[in-house]
Parts: sequence; structure tokens; C-alpha cells
Amino acid sequence: MIKLNRSEAPAYLSDDKIVELTNEFKINGVCVWNIHHIKEPLLASSYGKCAYCECPLTTQSNYMEVEHFEDKSNNPNKVILWENLLPSCKKCNGAKGIHDVISEPIVNPYIDEPKEHLSLRLYRLRGKTQVGERTIDVIDLNNSCRLVFPRYEIGEKISDLIEVSCERFHLYKIKKDVRSRNRLIGVVESLLNECQPVADYSACTATNLLTDEKFLELIKNMKAESIWNDELELSLRTAGSVVLDCS
Ligand SMILES: [Zn+2]
Repeated sequence: MIKLNRSEAPAYLSDDKIVELTNEFKINGVCVWNIHHIKEPLLASSYGKCAYCECPLTTQSNYMEVEHFEDKSNNPNKVILWENLLPSCKKCNGAKGIHDVISEPIVNPYIDEPKEHLSLRLYRLRGKTQVGERTIDVIDLNNSCRLVFPRYEIGEKISDLIEVSCERFHLYKIKKDVRSRNRLIGVVESLLNECQPVADYSACTATNLLTDEKFLELIKNMKAESIWNDELELSLRTAGSVVLDCS
């Protein structure tokens, strides 16, 4: 989970429209939130991912659901309230169900900073706070099949790319030519791209990469050779913003 920023409410949700849609839900039970005007800006604000588990929502197998942070059954007046809506995958939405976030708070990534509540151990999240622990349980954020395994698969890819980047650095040290320099920078860019907020499961991947001693040593070596550039530095800083503590 990473910190997300909520955009302004869509113009479509005027005061009158909110009253109209809320009544439509209360009287006829219509899924008034299930419309393009709401789903598109929500999806854009979460980089096309589930706000809770960071799985991609743009693939055919994983379509987006509009999640009501304060559940719609017990809070019908907030059914179309922009601040109460999150983009979620079906699994996270279903796991959370009608959990009462007022009496038993969980992390809201649009309000809370997830890294204050969650840490990472291998490919599993751990709670740093009671709210963090509860969030993991309520959303089922350490489900082996749907989350731990995909995080691990990306982790394996990252491990392989770190090996490749170290090999390319040694080659560069020998050759010192443009081609070997560019081949090295290319693979380091790929590594950092997997850790940007837009990437699937970025909190886990960024944490694993930026705590890998071999990768940190490589950065140091590239800087010493003056082949670490501004673009790489910017990517590194952005990746650093989603890193969780290791526990
Ligand atoms: Zn999810």
C-alpha cells in the first residue's frame, strides 16, 4: 500500500446530483457509483491500481470496483460522497465488506501514510501499529495466492536484474565505452521503473530493491564512475518515497 492523493471531486458530482443519486440508491438500491464519471478519476488517482493491495485494475481479469470506505449499507448518505470512495479490486472490497472503519479504524491511503502503519518482512506486510495490524487482517493483505506470490514473482525478477546490472557494471569498468554504459543504465532504469508508484505492488518491490546491499553498492560505484545521471536520481528518490520499513 502506498500514499495516494485524492483529486478534486468530479464536476459531475454537483450538490444536486449527489442528492439525486443518494436518493436513487436509498429508494431503489441502484449502484449509482458505478459510472465512468466516478470510476475514471478514481482509477487515475491510484495509478490504475487497487488502493489497498496495489494489484493492477486495468487487466481483464481484475476490474475495478468502487469501494465505500464507510460501508454503504450502514452509511447510505455517504454512498456517493467523493471522499468516501476508493478504487479497489474485487477481493479487497469483498474482504473488507461491512467492516466499521469508525469504531475499528484501518488505513485509508488517501488520508493516512501507510508506511507509518505497515512494515515489510520478505513479501509479507506487518503491522507497526494496531491500525496497521487490523488493516492487514481486514483487507487480507497477506493472502498467499493473490498477493504474497505475485510480490515474490516480481522480487525474483528484481533479483535477476540486480545480477545483470552488476555484471554490466563490471563490463563497463573494463570497456568504458558508450555502449556498455548505456546497457548498464538501461537495466538500472528497468529496476527503478518497477519501484515507481505506478508499478504493481510498488511498496514491496521498492522496499526490497532499496534495501538490497548489492544494489546500493552498485549505485555507489556508478556515482564514483560519474555514470549516475539526474533521471536515475529522480527515479531513485520517487521509489524511495514508497519504501516501507523492514521488520
Ligand atoms: Zn486489492
